[in-house]
Amino acid sequence: MQFSQVKGQQEVINRLISVINRNQFPHAVLINGKDGYGNLALALSLAQYISCTDKKTFGEAVSSGENKLIGDSCNECPSCRKYSKLMHPDLHLFFPNAATDKVKKDNKSSLFASEFRDFVSGSGAYSDVYNWLSFIGAETKQGVINVSDANEMVSLLNMKPFESNYKIVVAWNIDRMNLIASNTILKILEEPYPNTVFIFTTEHIENVLPTILSRVQQINLGPLSNEIIEEELRKLHSSSSDEEIKRDVLLSEGNLLNIQSEFLEKEKEYFELFVQLNRKAMMYRRNVFDIIAFADVMSKMSREKLKDFLSYCTKLIERCWQYSMGINTLQHPLAMVEEKFRNNYPQFITQNNLESIFDVIERTQKNIDRNANAKINLTNFVIKFGICLERR
Ligand SMILES: [Zn+2]
Repeated sequence: MQFSQVKGQQEVINRLISVINRNQFPHAVLINGKDGYGNLALALSLAQYISCTDKKTFGEAVSSGENKLIGDSCNECPSCRKYSKLMHPDLHLFFPNAATDKVKKDNKSSLFASEFRDFVSGSGAYSDVYNWLSFIGAETKQGVINVSDANEMVSLLNMKPFESNYKIVVAWNIDRMNLIASNTILKILEEPYPNTVFIFTTEHIENVLPTILSRVQQINLGPLSNEIIEEELRKLHSSSSDEEIKRDVLLSEGNLLNIQSEFLEKEKEYFELFVQLNRKAMMYRRNVFDIIAFADVMSKMSREKLKDFLSYCTKLIERCWQYSMGINTLQHPLAMVEEKFRNNYPQFITQNNLESIFDVIERTQKNIDRNANAKINLTNFVIKFGICLERR
């Protein structure tokens, strides 16, 4: 993959190119952003550039805000040809995985290599873990980078590069690495190893161990500009009206994954579920059986989806809070949800309960991670959510 295939982000890319050309690229970096900002696309194009034997330069950008790349990999040298197919022997890919029908046990990234290549080429490297797990038929599982992956990373260090000057380890969504695995790779991140570069990405930096964070250099990716999102929207939904395009640009919040029809449908589904959740929660004193039944329905959702829904709740509640504070109301995604909801709901979110609501959601998410009994966890969640709403 070339830098020119990454949407936007030229400023970050140009900075990286300069650092690489000065031979000052760190031995381990962490790309911190959203998959829809280009986490994986940047990681893969960076790996290809580092290994390219015929790097192109296009001259310096005149101003820092300019959308012009100052260089790129050639895409033609033997290294680039293999990198562009993700088939280079010195490229080592790691990503969240789970047991599937095909890989029933001892699952690790290398056993899904060919599926991952197909997944990346089909999505242009703009997709997320949820889609990836669905792609390998593991949508009901939690995707984890486990200790067998970490051991493989460690054992790579004893090998010489096969063809390039560098061995490059790309680990997508490193926050999915479990604790044992994280501790396993700590040692190898401490000191630079000759000819080895680690490129990690994360959407949830808060879940990356501080001891890992302190050993990598962070590259922060921000949301894509409205212009880029609009351009992509028009390609994807050519029949949309200008009004719809304007709405979807706002809804996307600079995240390319948020303009896909699946996302818009999901938002609709989550919004309806959120409304239901609130209805049940507000009745917690009167109708616990109803809450148990509701929790039962929710517990049938996959754990990944449940966590995703809870993140949606956090986002929406945050928006409601901002909306009721009068922050940025016109240019606000909340301006797009139903008027009745917009006019009524924000009053339930105040400074008295905002923190505790976030707390309850976070604890529920953690319990899901810990495989706690889903029905009990969710029943507790709805009741505690109801208590919070009452304390507004
Ligand atoms: Zn090349």
